[in-house]
Amino acid sequence: MHTCRDCKRTFSTELELELHQDNCTDGQLFCDACGTRFAEAEATEDGWHYRCPDADCEGEGIGKDIHRVEDVRVQTL
Ligand SMILES: [Zn+2]
Ligand SMILES: [Zn+2]
Repeated sequence: MHTCRDCKRTFSTELELELHQDNCTDGQLFCDACGTRFAEAEATEDGWHYRCPDADCEGEGIGKDIHRVEDVRVQTL
């Protein structure tokens, strides 16, 4: 069993989980510094200041260390 750590949904295969994570609305941000994906609510309290939820990571700032998954996809196309 594979669990999406963002929304806690479970999937029977790793492939299903990976496909889901591309669309998971609870994991739409990621940190460039450590590569972690997380939900917006985990990274910000006021919707203005963003910080990586990983306690060991210094990543912060939307558009700096923290990016939206959908924006990155557009750039790579
Ligand atoms: Zn999910
Ligand atoms: Zn980070």
